[in-house]
Formats: sequence, C-alpha cells, structure tokens
Amino acid sequence: MMEQKKKNLDQINKIRKNTNTTRRVTVKKIENILYKSFKVLDKGFIRVIDYMGDDSSIVQAARVSYGKGTKKINQDKNLINYLLSHRHSTPFEMNEIKFHVKLPIFVARQWIRHRTANVNEYSARYSILESEFYIPNKKNMQAQSKSNNQGREQQLNDIESKEYLDIIKKNSKHAFSDYRELLNEDDSGKTIDKNKNGVARELARMILPLNAYTEWYWKIDLHNLMHFLSLRFDYHAQYEIRVYAEAMLDILKKWVPLTYEAFISHRLENISLSKHGIEFIKNLIHGKKNDKIKISKREEDELKKRFGII
Ligand SMILES: Cc1cc2nc3c(=O)[nH]c(=O)nc-3n(C[C@H](O)[C@H](O)[C@H](O)COP(=O)(O)OP(=O)(O)OC[C@H]3O[C@@H](n4cnc5c(N)ncnc54)[C@H](O)[C@@H]3O)c2cc1C
Repeated sequence: MMEQKKKNLDQINKIRKNTNTTRRVTVKKIENILYKSFKVLDKGFIRVIDYMGDDSSIVQAARVSYGKGTKKINQDKNLINYLLSHRHSTPFEMNEIKFHVKLPIFVARQWIRHRTANVNEYSARYSILESEFYIPNKKNMQAQSKSNNQGREQQLNDIESKEYLDIIKKNSKHAFSDYRELLNEDDSGKTIDKNKNGVARELARMILPLNAYTEWYWKIDLHNLMHFLSLRFDYHAQYEIRVYAEAMLDILKKWVPLTYEAFISHRLENISLSKHGIEFIKNLIHGKKNDKIKISKREEDELKKRFGII
C-alpha cells in the first residue's frame, strides 16, 4: 500500500513538471495547485485535474463577446453579482472543472445523486480495492439527533466512542480479510490457496462495507458546482460530505474569486423567506403578535436563528 502511494505521488510530481502554452485563459492560483492532492477525511483526497475558463469567461459568455468581453473589474464584478442574484445561470455553465476524488462509498452514494456531472469511477470489477476504509475521528462520533432524524448531535463520552470505533475497525478489517479470501489472493497479490480458483472481483466486492474508499473523476460546470456546494456545504448535509464541499469551496475561491464572492453573498449566506416567514418578520419589526401566523416550528426556529432573535 505504501508502495502504491509512493507511485501515485511520483506520477503527480512528474505531471506537475509539465507545462504547455495556450491561448486560452488560465488561472495562476489553480495552475499552482493543479494535480496536487488535498487531504479530506482520514484517507480521502480531492485534486483538480483540469478546468476551463475564469471569471472573465462568464462575462464573455454573458455579453456573447467577440473578444475578451471584460470591462473594468468593478463592472465585471457587478455583472457577475447581477447574473448570480437573478439566477441567470447559463453564463456560469460555460466554465468547467474536473476533479479526482477519493471518498468512502457511503459519501459517494450521496454525491452521485447530483446528476449534472460527468463521472468515471474506479472499477472494482476490473481492479482489486485496497484495504482502505474510513474511520471517524473520536470527536465525530456523535449520538443520533433527537430533533433531526437525519443528523447527529452531542459527542459521545470517551469510553462509548472507543467501544464503537473498535466495532467499526473490527468490522472493516474482517470484511476486507473475507474479500481477500473470496479473491483467493492476499494483500501482496499472492495466491492464498493454490487448489482454489477464487471468486471474480465483481462478485467478491459485494461484501465490502460502505466505509470502503472508492475513487472517481468528476467533471461539472460552474453553475451545477455551485448548486452542489449550496446543498453539500450546508449544515444540513452530513459532515463526511461537507468536508469535501469545504475543500471544493476553497478551490472555487482560487478559480473564480468574483463568482465565489457573489456565491457566498447571494447563495450561501442569503436567506429565502416564505410568505408566512415575511409576515412573521414584519410583525416582529412592528411589535405585533405572531400568534395567528401559520409558520412551522422549524421555520420559526430557523428565522430566529438567522436574525439573532432569542
Ligand atoms: C441534506 C440533504 C438530505 C437529503 N436526503 C435525502 C434522502 O433522505 N433521500 C434521498 O433519496 N435523497 C436525499 N437527498 C438527495 C436530494 O434529494 C437530491 O437528490 C440531491 O441533493 C441532488 O439534488 P439535485 O437533484 O437538485 O441535483 P442535480 O442532480 O445536480 O441536479 C441539478 C438540478 O438540475 C435539474 N435536474 C437534474 N436532473 C433532472 C431531471 N431528471 N429532471 C428535472 N430536473 C432535473 C434540477 O433542477 C436540479 O435541481 C438529500 C440531499 C441533501 C442535501
């Protein structure tokens, strides 16, 4: 496994030495990190493999320009803000980015629901998966949330979290050892029992746990990337996918800084109010009672939180 990691690193270092000339726009901050791996979770990573366009490409597409399309930086910034806040999405679809991601299978199952990307996953029919599985940090070992069926809260005490972490480790090791037995091949690729054939890779893999790591290339346009980030960077999303979104948000900032700013302001940190939500806030401002407003407890709590109302 160490050998494999060194081989991968050597390949990354080798490809990073290449340079090409182009007439297309490039982004220095992305060129600086191209192909580099950024660690996510215990054994996962994300790296940028390729990209197309920068902030100016959005402006260029919006103006259907013959040349660069950009004017003064402030005008470009205002246009990008306008496009994003008015959900004028197609200029953002002109930019694309391609990632290489290593992620646990249960995270991949959430991620793959985003249908607007192009995906090519490591084939466990063709190749043997390495014995790598996700083990949460102790601080992420939390109990089931009582208020949100889809979440966790309250850290477990050391004794309980150690007990559960041991179960996760034991289960994962056991599953990988059985996987090897089904393949009739040990970690170094040696046949375990010369009198047996072993089962095909496409069948052996079915006993692997959801915390086993997989890898894929994932290409998406900027509009849909922002849609992905607005859902997966959100605090409602599971921690294990949110940390990937966080790493991608950092990459977005390097790639298209003006769009990033507009995205934070108009999408990530904005708030959309329902009809009843507006009435609720209006009443608060005017010191009126809110007892007749048909607003759910969840919406009321969210509004109070966002507006800092106790
Ligand atoms: C916090 C959270 C909890 C979730 N819980 C669950 C759950 O319990 N169970 C579950 O099954 N899923 C769950 N999901 C997944 C969720 O329902 C979506 O499938 C996922 O977030 C992808 O969103 P999307 O369809 O908008 O994205 P994409 O597939 O990337 O699509 C982007 C946009 O393109 C358009 N689009 C794409 N494909 C089509 C199409 N075929 N027809 C029409 N329009 C299309 C839509 O406007 C869509 O919003 C959850 C997601 C989140 C973030």
